[in-house]
Amino acid sequence: MEISNCIICGKMFRHDGREAKHCTECHAVHEAKLRAVKDVILSNPGLTVQEASEKSGASYKLIMEWIKEGRILR
Ligand SMILES: [Zn+2]
Repeated sequence: MEISNCIICGKMFRHDGREAKHCTECHAVHEAKLRAVKDVILSNPGLTVQEASEKSGASYKLIMEWIKEGRILR
């Protein structure tokens, strides 16, 4: 077991060694936010990360994380 900090709520949680950035409670919220961000970017091409963050309600840090992970393509 390894301990990580949830990037959404900041809580520490244990995971089984797989790449995990958020606790299980935040998982559903996280996926919903990711979808919201993708929708915002799709319907508003050319947005900056800051603007996408404001429109989707997901934090700037979180969006940068997703871009780094390749889950969002700029
Ligand atoms: Zn969490």
